[in-house]
Amino acid sequence: MAPGYGIRLSGNISEANVLLVEDDATQRHIVAAMLESMGAGGVCSAASAEEAFAIVGYPEPGPKTQAVDLILMDVILGDSNGIDLCRRLAASPALALVPIIIVTSLSDAATLKEAFDAGAADFITKPVADYELEARISAALGWRRSMLIRVEREDELEKREKELIKVTEVLQQTNERLQLLSTRDALTGVANRRGLNDFFDMEWRRAAREEGCLSLVMIDVDDFKNFNDSQGHQAGDECLWMIALSLKDCLNRGADMVGRYGGEEFLVVLPDTPMEGALQVAEAMRQSVQDKGVGHSTSRTGAGVVTVSVGVASAEPTMAIDSAILLAAADKALYEAKNQGRNRVAAAPALVTAAG
Ligand code: GH3
Ligand code: MG
Ligand code: MG
Ligand code: MG
Repeated sequence: MAPGYGIRLSGNISEANVLLVEDDATQRHIVAAMLESMGAGGVCSAASAEEAFAIVGYPEPGPKTQAVDLILMDVILGDSNGIDLCRRLAASPALALVPIIIVTSLSDAATLKEAFDAGAADFITKPVADYELEARISAALGWRRSMLIRVEREDELEKREKELIKVTEVLQQTNERLQLLSTRDALTGVANRRGLNDFFDMEWRRAAREEGCLSLVMIDVDDFKNFNDSQGHQAGDECLWMIALSLKDCLNRGADMVGRYGGEEFLVVLPDTPMEGALQVAEAMRQSVQDKGVGHSTSRTGAGVVTVSVGVASAEPTMAIDSAILLAAADKALYEAKNQGRNRVAAAPALVTAAG
């Protein structure tokens, strides 16, 4: 609906602006006088279709455009066809809620049908009687008012719906951001990959500043696919939880961090720890998991219980070295441990870096 049509209309003619379209000057003056004596809020007259178009602002608003609440229109307008005028005005979106009352002669039954088909709201016969004119106008204005109220309610509902959609979107985005910001692994309670990466980066830069060292221990469960396949996913999840607990138990320093790096892979960051110390922690972890004695009859290691393979890498970081190098080295060492038969610890060779 076109803007600016607020509900100023009570259905009472005293608040309505009526457009009278009539080519006969005498008839125009008579009806205009009737409207005025009824107390119409405003009366504007048009002697032709062109004048009517200018007043209602059809098809575009212009300097003569006025807000009109009701159109009273003679069906024979000199050269113009009143029916055609009615059809065009009724079809204009800006005038969708402006009732058009056709003024016609009683003998004009065929024209009347045409007028209704063209979108007229009502008709009044000539000669126009003032009591009838008032009754028809009042009914048409009542219709207009109820339609305006309805449209306003629909607009309000639409607005609220849009607001609700917007709030829901914001909520969703916030949730996603919170999820991203979360640094805990939901299954095991230890750090997740993001938490690990943040911590590792921080420790890497600190070691570079302080010219210290740093080790990574990467752990992967042996033949875990077989474990899941034979014991079920639920048992697999419980096993991961148990492993996280075992790994945590092996950490002696508050500065160390263990986290779940991916599916059945864990990563341990050991600040200020050289290879020698890291290998001790790694072996303790491997042993600790094995000692839990969680049955795994389908493991190719032959241990009969759940075991892990472990890769260890150490570095003396500098700002010039990308921390990803150490991660790749630990991963490679883990791959070696797998290759050598699993359930063992393998150390990465000393890092060859640009810094030498
Ligand atoms: P390998 O000794 O070479 O590591 O063999 P693997 O079977 O452990 O390795 P692979 O990478 O082929 O399979 C890893 C399996 O770990 C796949 C999946 O069954 C299991 N897994 C990964 N994440 C989860 C998890 O969150 N819960 C459970 N229950 N199982 C998981
Ligand atoms: Mg794996
Ligand atoms: Mg694997
Ligand atoms: Mg595995």
